[in-house]
Amino acid sequence: IWGNCLSFIKDNITPQAYKTWFEPIKAVKLTDNALSIQVPSKFFYEWLEEHYVKLLKVALNKELGDTAKLVYVIRMENTYGNKQPFTESIPSSQRAQMQSQQVDVPTKSKSPELKNPFIIPGIRNVKIESQLNPNYNFESFLEGDSNRLARSAGMAVANKPGGTSFNPLLIFGGVGLGKTHLAHAIGVEIKDKYPEKTVLYISAEKFTQQYIESVKKNNRNDFIHFYQIIDVLIVDDIQLLSGKAGTQDVFFHIFNHLHQNGKQVILTSDKAPVDMQDIEQRLLSRFKWGLSAELQHPDFETRIAIIKSKLYRDGVEMPEDIVEFLANNIKTNIRELEGAIISLIAHSSFNKKDITLELAKSIVDNYVKNTKREVSIDYIQKVVGDYFQMDVETLRSKTRKRHIVQARQLAMFFAKKLTKASLASIGSQIGKRDHATVLHACKTVNNLAATDKQFRKFVEDLDKKLAV
Ligand code: ADP
Ligand code: MG
Repeated sequence: IWGNCLSFIKDNITPQAYKTWFEPIKAVKLTDNALSIQVPSKFFYEWLEEHYVKLLKVALNKELGDTAKLVYVIRMENTYGNKQPFTESIPSSQRAQMQSQQVDVPTKSKSPELKNPFIIPGIRNVKIESQLNPNYNFESFLEGDSNRLARSAGMAVANKPGGTSFNPLLIFGGVGLGKTHLAHAIGVEIKDKYPEKTVLYISAEKFTQQYIESVKKNNRNDFIHFYQIIDVLIVDDIQLLSGKAGTQDVFFHIFNHLHQNGKQVILTSDKAPVDMQDIEQRLLSRFKWGLSAELQHPDFETRIAIIKSKLYRDGVEMPEDIVEFLANNIKTNIRELEGAIISLIAHSSFNKKDITLELAKSIVDNYVKNTKREVSIDYIQKVVGDYFQMDVETLRSKTRKRHIVQARQLAMFFAKKLTKASLASIGSQIGKRDHATVLHACKTVNNLAATDKQFRKFVEDLDKKLAV
């Protein structure tokens, strides 16, 4: 049927126009009197509607009668992996004066399990699947000193996309500090508040691949056009555009178009704009138009809060001292912190063992390479207490019993040796004692270790247990 339509069309337009606008079309489905045709892009679809709708109508009516329907399926090729984020399915517009109906975009992939999860059937307008991860929202993005500015700027942007001076909003910071999470959260929030807005999240890497592909396929204009209809564009890891002149150029045009039209642009980068290399000056200067907000290393409290929220979410309980141990030892990368939690849980459930400090230590070692593990004073008290089979309360208590005093003194000695804490601070953390007491403890331990064989064994054992 489509073949017949085509030959009719061919007879009525120039060969050049036919070649350009009709050869690329694929008929994909015929149900009753509705023919679905697949076109390469939205731009393509608009062009057909603009210029050839009458011709199409006549051709189709000839084949299928007066009630013929035409359904457009827009496909923007994406050959990178299974995800096909730019598949759109939209019906013929009103102007076509043909009734339209929805069809599913046929999955191209050979294996059915790869069935495209990214298609949203259009209702009237173009729907672009935003590629947002709903779990990366503001609620799950815990606030702390390290992210307060970026987080609240993100909130402001989400409340009024394109309507603040934070355009573009550039979120920058080291690896694993939450850039991607925050970028998604802004998008998710905007989608929530303004469902009609077209939001698109894309990594700079994928953007680059798509661009290259579009050049290969000779549809660079379609590529640009596609991005220009977006209301909120989120590009992750923009530093990856460095050294890619062509992609930078096309991004520059898209950026300008969006910005001029009051559309919101959100960017992330692992470097501050001043440190970005091999990015064109004109692009860099635009990055600085809005707000650059940094995600810094989370402080101890925030790390604790993040660990606890992940545990809570997974319904897992973990002893407080282990939570602190993790927070004390994985400081500069939240992703690693999460990774350590996950493998700790996995190990303990796999081996049907409790989560112990021993296990935590060995796992942390897999995450924090070549850095000296820092032990907390709480941790030291716990290890010393365990060694002498007494709980930490006993260790800290006021009792003068000899073996308890000894254990307490050992805890103080190791606190001095293994942490940067002052004598006063050690004293206050080990049962509210003053710095003179701690100093005395350290001297006593040194003396006893030199003179008492049994005591020296204690010191050596504990040294091993606390080894970093
Ligand atoms: P980046 O993109 O900067 O490398 P991600 O956004 O991928 O980092 O974050 C790494 C992990 O840390 C993610 O799982 C994210 O959910 C988590 N994370 C980062 N910041 C926070 C935060 N403030 N609250 C909760 N989780 C966070
Ligand atoms: Mg990221």
